[in-house]
Amino acid sequence: MTVRAIAIVCAISAAVLASPAGRAAERTGALPKQAAAAESLPAATDVRVGGDDKQTRFVVDLSQKIDLTAFTLADPYRVVIDLPQVAFQLSAKAGEQSRGLVKAFRYGLIMQGGSRIVLDTKGPVRIDKAFALAAVDGQPARLVLDLTPIDRASFLRTISLENRSPRVSSVKPSEAAPKVAGDARPLIVLDPGHGGIDNGTKAASGELEKDLVLQFAHTLRARLESAGKYRVAMTRSDDTFIPLAERVRFARAHGAALFVSIHADAIPRGEGQAEGATVYTLSENASDAEAARLAEAENRADVIAGVDLTAEPGDVANILVDLAQRETKTYSAQFAKLAVGELKSTARLHKHPMKAAGFKVLTAPDVPSVLVELGYMSTKDDLKLLTSTAWQGKTAAALAQAVDSYFAPRLAGAGGN
Ligand SMILES: [Zn+2]
Repeated sequence: MTVRAIAIVCAISAAVLASPAGRAAERTGALPKQAAAAESLPAATDVRVGGDDKQTRFVVDLSQKIDLTAFTLADPYRVVIDLPQVAFQLSAKAGEQSRGLVKAFRYGLIMQGGSRIVLDTKGPVRIDKAFALAAVDGQPARLVLDLTPIDRASFLRTISLENRSPRVSSVKPSEAAPKVAGDARPLIVLDPGHGGIDNGTKAASGELEKDLVLQFAHTLRARLESAGKYRVAMTRSDDTFIPLAERVRFARAHGAALFVSIHADAIPRGEGQAEGATVYTLSENASDAEAARLAEAENRADVIAGVDLTAEPGDVANILVDLAQRETKTYSAQFAKLAVGELKSTARLHKHPMKAAGFKVLTAPDVPSVLVELGYMSTKDDLKLLTSTAWQGKTAAALAQAVDSYFAPRLAGAGGN
């Protein structure tokens, strides 16, 4: 494809992606928008952390000078650098550099058109300087950040001052839900976990949870749509990060009849073996220690992506009080049971395949919601299944069957179509 053709694809892609044809193209894996955009993006080619606990300098080499905004977040202490969309061409272990005040960092897409770098710091820090340099004297363009330690009180004061000025926080689902006037078919929202800057868990062989669950969600979506009985929308249909609350909001705002969050788990090294799929519903009290650990890990997505949570209302406990008074909880459990029943014949199931824990992403009070852990990326045999197209197809078919069983009485009652 010529450069000119790529530019044209870029220009029309927004319109195309909003159309049914565009969505079909997306499902088949043709992502003209991203593929074309990658070639014209500024690139981050190298990254270095220098200095010590008194002053730490963070430098990123760039193919061109770009604008940046940097701010700090507390609990845990983080520094966030927001950039226009950047193609990160860094080594796989780049983010593991620990030096001076920086413990580790990660980077990736935070929304269409926007990239982010999140640094975990050893304690409260002040951003002394944050600037970009144009290429000069054979040196590439650079982004430079200088950090110095400060006490917690000053740190928190800085944050509250920063919060007075509006900041880019409008991270929205990457796809608009199909709104078809007069279409009474139930809307199912599929929620592939993680994305963008948040990789989720990572297999020893390098596969990322965020990629795997996105692929599976596309398969499940195609399966659900093929019967024509449902409308299906995804909280993300590409490699973008979506905050947990935004996923919930998306389902509620579009009046979803069912919300299915899709993940793949991993057991920390040295903590034994586990295998098979598990279906989770929301509960304040976790079924067991493993469920509690998992919910905690999944709930960390926003922290990983540097989302400012100070404005987030309530915790899971409060939401549950509200939820207890609704039938949503019963419906969620009903679907979870059907899903486990169907998965039994096709997928490997965990020895306790139906569990509950405090997952933030399941807190819509009016949308029956479940979270499916497809298997363990840390278990070799599970990973083999998870990455197999045949297994994905079979498992998607099983979940689609559970959806059918769940909606059958409702559709019949409504005089269905
Ligand atoms: Zn996950």
